[in-house]
Amino acid sequence: YYRRSWSSESSDSVISSESGSNCYRVVLIGEQSVGKSSLANIFAGVHDSIDSDCEVLGEDTYERTLMVDGESATIILIDMWDNKREGEWIREHCMQVGDAYLIVYSITDRASFEKASELRIQLRRARQKEDIPIILVGNKSDLVRCREVSVAEGRACAVVFDCKFIETSAAVQHNVKELFEGIVRQVRLRRDSKEK
Ligand code: GDP
Ligand code: MG
Repeated sequence: YYRRSWSSESSDSVISSESGSNCYRVVLIGEQSVGKSSLANIFAGVHDSIDSDCEVLGEDTYERTLMVDGESATIILIDMWDNKREGEWIREHCMQVGDAYLIVYSITDRASFEKASELRIQLRRARQKEDIPIILVGNKSDLVRCREVSVAEGRACAVVFDCKFIETSAAVQHNVKELFEGIVRQVRLRRDSKEK
């Protein structure tokens, strides 16, 4: 059974082996059903038959190389936050392995927005001395009539948490490309300031 053998052997062999300079592990976290897997599927290109240069590394890990500002970057996208079969260790693992995080909530679900704040605090605690790039993602922006969290609230929350903010819709594929480009830029900003 693939997942079991993967987890019992070396937990990071799949996702930690390729941390070259232009390869970033990006982890999706957030309440269940906010749209993490939908965003991951768009990233993986399951909706477009022409452009399928994505490699599926596991059931919930995807690798893809993007051109961002004329420079290529490889993202390893990890969508295993809701995988409860493997137990709690997977969440601790997720908190440790990311080079960057997408904290996702649904604009139609205030509880998921509040959860996002909790996750931000947990992440800060888990990676205390690191300046980790994070984007707060308000997904399901197409569901205008069911909106429970305003754009202003999302933006204000991101300011408090010192991270970037974007609203996306996986359903109509709005801002999804911008989201993944955005996280690459955030990682690069930190990399470039370290080099100086
Ligand atoms: P996850 O549990 O965070 O991985 O969430 P999923 O990606 O499985 O999505 C949960 C449900 O929300 C599914 O029925 C999706 O089709 C739906 N969904 C995800 N993103 C959007 C979105 O942007 N707009 C709308 N209207 N529905 C969405
Ligand atoms: Mg999911």
